[in-house]
Amino acid sequence: MARYDVLILGGGASGCALAGRLSENHDRSVCLVEAGPDYGHLSEGRWPADILDPRWLALESHLWERADEEDRSQARARVLGGCSAHNACVILEGAPADYEWGAGWSYESFAPYLKRAAETLQTHVLPDDELTPWHRAFRQAGGDDSIVHPVNIVDGVRWHSGFAYVDPARGRGNLTILADTLVDRVLLEDGRAVGALADGRELQAAVVVVSASAYGSPAILLRSGIGPEGDVAQLPVGEGLVDHVGVGAAWEPTERLVAETSAHEAEHGLYMGQVTVAARSRSCPPGTRDVFVFPALDIGPEISGAAFAMKPRSRGSVRLTAPEPEAPLAIDHGFLCDERDTEVLVEAFERLRDLAESDEVRPYRGAELRPGAEIGAEEHVRATARGFFHPVGTCAIGSVLDERCRVLGFENLYVVDASAIPEIPSANTNLTTVALAERASEWL
Ligand SMILES: Cc1cc2nc3c(=O)[nH]c(=O)nc-3n(C[C@H](O)[C@H](O)[C@H](O)COP(=O)(O)OP(=O)(O)OC[C@H]3O[C@@H](n4cnc5c(N)ncnc54)[C@H](O)[C@@H]3O)c2cc1C
Repeated sequence: MARYDVLILGGGASGCALAGRLSENHDRSVCLVEAGPDYGHLSEGRWPADILDPRWLALESHLWERADEEDRSQARARVLGGCSAHNACVILEGAPADYEWGAGWSYESFAPYLKRAAETLQTHVLPDDELTPWHRAFRQAGGDDSIVHPVNIVDGVRWHSGFAYVDPARGRGNLTILADTLVDRVLLEDGRAVGALADGRELQAAVVVVSASAYGSPAILLRSGIGPEGDVAQLPVGEGLVDHVGVGAAWEPTERLVAETSAHEAEHGLYMGQVTVAARSRSCPPGTRDVFVFPALDIGPEISGAAFAMKPRSRGSVRLTAPEPEAPLAIDHGFLCDERDTEVLVEAFERLRDLAESDEVRPYRGAELRPGAEIGAEEHVRATARGFFHPVGTCAIGSVLDERCRVLGFENLYVVDASAIPEIPSANTNLTTVALAERASEWL
């Protein structure tokens, strides 16, 4: 039977970072288990084009469940690299106040890991001349509130965690990658993790780290008997799900936008995520920004943008629908169940409309097609609020985990991924998640 020092369950943004860092110690055997495929080192040329292409979200392939066109809030990737392999490559850290997560956690203590993660992901800021006309117009209209995104794109390739962390480690004899291998549950004996059951095989380990995302990790713990009504341990696993919540708008593109965009594309290529306008709502907590406006470049019959509430208070849950690991999960985001989120999102959407009215943006857009000028902001928000693909908090530090990401009551069982994040940062979540893995790899 296979036995390792560390078993990492889930090879996504965080799992790849853990595998890369932990295997740097050649005396430690590490096994990374991923349900989706691994296409090998980038230089082997086997990665599918949509996963490599950072211009658009790769939402047509490698999904756990088929994304519903009307509501893609639950979309999640099943491939080495996880959601970092099909995301928008925006690398932002939250505000310092976002990282007060209890004992041992503060921006000061976490900042070195955010920096190390950003460097390893080869993050760089897009030069001004690479901004598309649509993004540049929003950046100018947003003034000091505008952020030009740092991105993890290398030579036109989405630089997901697999390329950043696993590729440099592939030659190491102490790293095993088990791809296309579905984890059922953690094997527990007398209050200790002893391994995992995956595709009917027993894998043994001295330390088990669950890193299967804010959806997948609670599912593994729940199947292992650790949960609100678990027969092994009672912990609020799967509770506390939170994601940024947003709504979109779309306009007719003008001839000028189409002409300038195709000229820009010939020169630079088009990247959908380049600029955010970040602001504070009237009820924003101190020290952070709770409104994001995001112009999206999906030019066709319409040109669009979206507005988000970045410090939502609503909470949802992840539960099992059946004991089998392939069974779809019951994911309830609970969007807008706290009325204060509706108020912030209405303000955010009004800001998006204001920016669209600005002198800088007006030349590029015609009539509002979605939701349409006759629809009020609140009506639109209540009817169409969706997630931002940033779920966190379902195995949170402080309620399910101790401050070192150890499952309470189990000295050698850890959860290290977005599910461990107890307080959603006011920023896209990839960098925070990878930085958490960087930090935890020093404790494991
Ligand atoms: C469409 C989209 C766009 C995004 N854009 C951005 C962006 O531009 N910037 C940003 O900062 N963030 C973005 N994000 C969010 C970011 O990618 C996530 O925060 C990050 O990937 C979370 O990392 P993770 O390790 O927790 O989970 P994931 O990266 O999702 O990795 C989890 C891995 O575990 C595997 N797994 C799950 N269950 C099992 C099991 N039972 N057995 C074996 N393996 C399992 C999965 O297949 C997956 O590979 C986006 C997300 C999505 C979905």
